[in-house]
Amino acid sequence: MIRGWLRSRRRRRYLREPIPAAWRAWLEPLPHARALTDAECARLVAFARAFVEEKRFEGCAGFVVDDEVRACIALQACLIVLGLGLDAYRRVRTVLVYPATYRRANRSATGAVVSEGDAHIAGETVLGGPVVLTWDATVHGGQVGDDGRNLVFHEFAHQIDLLDDYADGAPPLVEDASYRAVIGREFEQHVRAVESKKRTFLDPYGATNPAEFFAVATEAFFERRDRLRDKHPELYAELAAFYQRRQPLDQE
Ligand SMILES: [Zn+2]
Repeated sequence: MIRGWLRSRRRRRYLREPIPAAWRAWLEPLPHARALTDAECARLVAFARAFVEEKRFEGCAGFVVDDEVRACIALQACLIVLGLGLDAYRRVRTVLVYPATYRRANRSATGAVVSEGDAHIAGETVLGGPVVLTWDATVHGGQVGDDGRNLVFHEFAHQIDLLDDYADGAPPLVEDASYRAVIGREFEQHVRAVESKKRTFLDPYGATNPAEFFAVATEAFFERRDRLRDKHPELYAELAAFYQRRQPLDQE
């Protein structure tokens, strides 16, 4: 109770304060920030500062996590929840960071673990567990803002999807039947296009299952918004309605 109150107070303070110089320097190179208004930049940094305070970061395989690493991850993760609010990450406690794509002998097949790739893992999301990132892909995501690929957006989209314990491409914050109908139809069309070896605008990896479709659609929404609107207007409209609604910073 007290911890929740202190957290809310700190979040509100971050929203009121001007952007600290260090955070301005970390925000500057992020290509996605160029499209944001000053108020949105201030909100993004306030979210990211709170994120860094509230989550635990751990380096793996010899990787050292410093302030810049934390900021680079937090800014990208918070960019996709500027509208939803930071509590969309209320179940994320730990972020593990590997230096580069790593190998794992046994791949888990449970529905609660979402791994990217096969034996080579670029990132991973575990229900109630950590978000696992690789630093090389995280840096790429923070430097290139329009290739439709962003590991941090992707893994944190899985976390939003998993808020109701199901990796099904339909986050619990979405209640309307129209969202489910559109995303279901778009997923099926995507699977058919990938199966028939057609060139697709969305990453073919999205044909893996509805959870991956939601994650790659999220990457496209935040990186190639205009083209997504042209190619998939209904999907774009649903994602816009979902991601762009505005919640207070400290909403529970
Ligand atoms: Zn994924």
